[in-house]
Amino acid sequence: MSIDELIDSASLQAVVAPEPLADLLRRSSAMHRHLCPRQVLGARMGMYAGELLGLALPQTNKRLYTFVETDGCFADGVSVATGCWLGRRTMRLIDVGKVAATFVDTQTGQAVRIAPRPDVRELARGYAPNARSRWHAYLIAYQLMPLNELLNAQPVTLTVDLKAIISRNGLRAMCEQCGEEIINAREVIHDGKVLCRTCVGEGYYTTVDQVYTERHQPNQE
Ligand SMILES: [Zn+2]
Ligand SMILES: [Zn+2]
Repeated sequence: MSIDELIDSASLQAVVAPEPLADLLRRSSAMHRHLCPRQVLGARMGMYAGELLGLALPQTNKRLYTFVETDGCFADGVSVATGCWLGRRTMRLIDVGKVAATFVDTQTGQAVRIAPRPDVRELARGYAPNARSRWHAYLIAYQLMPLNELLNAQPVTLTVDLKAIISRNGLRAMCEQCGEEIINAREVIHDGKVLCRTCVGEGYYTTVDQVYTERHQPNQE
């Protein structure tokens, strides 16, 4: 099938990329039940990071660490391509609302931030002129565009302490105020007390005065 035919029949699953990108996109779209432009960007950024850092990706170890700058489909595109996952503690969300990511080789300390070129949307239209919407044009074009038209890569130095973020296995503390366990050395010492960040006022919630009745409790059977 030609590209044009694929575009004409563009279903939400339109994978037109060559391998190995196509395989990555099939995997990320299977997780989402759709393929979208941001997944494509995420997968291509991850692959590009592997080239720039000289790492074979997706990794099966934890050598590469990724900071994604937004969540959603994009992050899963990055994960599928790199093997960095929130669940493997090789990915962290720094939510500044950008479709961009920084990839760090934890062995060498080398880091590169990759983002779409600011003019990527205009350039994209030339790669899928017959697409039935702009969204479809991006979906197709991001799979086909050469890297130098799609992405910018910039070597960077981290200003956060990656070793502290990764921390060590098996570290446990107990908050002296709420009594909850804290792992990965996220506790703080405040007035000589070991406390969690929530109890020192860095929490993201306040409690509500309401008691759950029995029918709200999880089924105990
Ligand atoms: Zn999506
Ligand atoms: Zn606490």
